[in-house]
Amino acid sequence: MIRYDTLKKAVCLLLSMVFPALQSEEHEMKTHSFEQFLAEFVPQAARKSTQLNKASWILETTGSTDAADLKADLDTELRLLFNDPAVYHKLLAWEKDPTLADPLLRRQLNVLVRAFKQNQIPKALLEEIAQKEAALSMSYATFRPKIDGKPVSENDILDILKTEKSAVKRQQAWEASKEIGEVLAPQILALVELRNKSAASLGYPDYFQMQLDLQEVDAKWLLKTLDDLAQKSDIAYGKLVHEIEEAQSKDFGVSPTQLGPWAWSDPFSQADPLDTQELDRLVAGVDIAKASADFYSKMGIDVQPILARSDMYERPGKNQHAFCIHIDRTGDVRTLNNVKDSVKWLETVLHELGHAIYELGFDPHLPWLLREPPHMIPTEAMALYAGRQAYRYDALRTLVGSEKEKEPLRKKADASLKRRQLIFSRWVLVMTAFESELYRNPSQDLNALWWSLVEKYQKIRPPKGRHGKWDWATKYHIGLAPVYYFSYLLGEMFASAIEESLAAQGSASLSSEKAGRFLQEKLFSPGNRMSWSELIAHVTGKPLDGDAWIREFAR
Ligand SMILES: [Zn+2]
Repeated sequence: MIRYDTLKKAVCLLLSMVFPALQSEEHEMKTHSFEQFLAEFVPQAARKSTQLNKASWILETTGSTDAADLKADLDTELRLLFNDPAVYHKLLAWEKDPTLADPLLRRQLNVLVRAFKQNQIPKALLEEIAQKEAALSMSYATFRPKIDGKPVSENDILDILKTEKSAVKRQQAWEASKEIGEVLAPQILALVELRNKSAASLGYPDYFQMQLDLQEVDAKWLLKTLDDLAQKSDIAYGKLVHEIEEAQSKDFGVSPTQLGPWAWSDPFSQADPLDTQELDRLVAGVDIAKASADFYSKMGIDVQPILARSDMYERPGKNQHAFCIHIDRTGDVRTLNNVKDSVKWLETVLHELGHAIYELGFDPHLPWLLREPPHMIPTEAMALYAGRQAYRYDALRTLVGSEKEKEPLRKKADASLKRRQLIFSRWVLVMTAFESELYRNPSQDLNALWWSLVEKYQKIRPPKGRHGKWDWATKYHIGLAPVYYFSYLLGEMFASAIEESLAAQGSASLSSEKAGRFLQEKLFSPGNRMSWSELIAHVTGKPLDGDAWIREFAR
């Protein structure tokens, strides 16, 4: 569920390689104008980025170790292009130059300044971070907790939480899933310290603030907006938790007050525990790729060429998840999927194609540097909006057919979408609030903080006996994909706002040519010509807030 983005990944690569071609150019560059600089720089970046994307594609579709080596080398080479301090200072000087007024030039300058800035962190520090992240990644991959003395995998634990009826066995499995915290916490804390050091080297108070600033996200605005969403959806979520607890209490034969987090169907209570397999009957006998293509063709968009370049089905060695990648920023857009007969995969194919049509919709006259979304938020919004159709009562009629026996399932799917939105939003609230505090003050009682946030947002009672544990450290993203989760919730909020804008113009459904034209003109075409927040105002006529999402899911 990602857009594969090679330029903006976390700053974690070893920068020790020498790249002689660039060093000689540094001297010539000083007398150049910004336009001359772009004419020299961009073709190098474009070529390297295309090579890197091709290596990534081979790696993800085959698991080839040669491709992995090649990808790592190309990644380093591309990063080195954005590394030279002399170029960075020249960029800063151009930024102050009042004669450089053309908006497209200024925006390219802004993109470059932010890309170079994050590479100005001292090399030794970046190397240490990369090593520690690699070690942490190994710990995640190799640790196996034990149940009754027997080692179990993450999937074993998930299976128990999905199917086991005994509250005692569920608790045992949940506690096993938290054992890894003791191993990971000291490693993560060491990384937090280094990440904060890297932020300080660029003049930021902490790593959370740095990451947000480099992504043009105002930290105060973000926390306030999420807090506002939490308050406005509190009653709706409270009702849902009540409904969930009643079902769990019946299922496991314990009173609601005795239910622990282990009553949920995953270790973090981030997924809908009332979700059932029966929804998959909706897609029985449906060709998911064809149904998705038909859906998009009703928007006036032909996705067949994308599907023809895509890798759709399971195969040994292949990445088991899904993503969309734009290889060359000139139209070679592909998606990777592992389609099975489930609503989840209908959602995923629609989602990845949502990223794909966005990438194909950039104004072709935009300069290379601006042929990308300004942030993950708008492209996730399009993809999430498209993915939601797999659960919508009306859209399902188009997607899977209007047979009478599917009608009650379509209703259930619609209700499950609302539950999933509420549950996932709470999980993002916990993650974002925790990360902001983790980087602000890593020496506080983090487990107490974690459970206070879980109780506040997810309304789950903290179980006894967790004092002095490391439950916060067991979520993969805390250690290895930091300051990242919030984009999904902002994407959901923007998706709802887009839907309201379409409705205001008389397009009640996404699968119409009118909707397709609106999105193409307003959302896709500008590329990175403006910041993500300006783009949202450009599309919906107002700044982003959670109100449309609240009206849709939390009334
Ligand atoms: Zn996505």
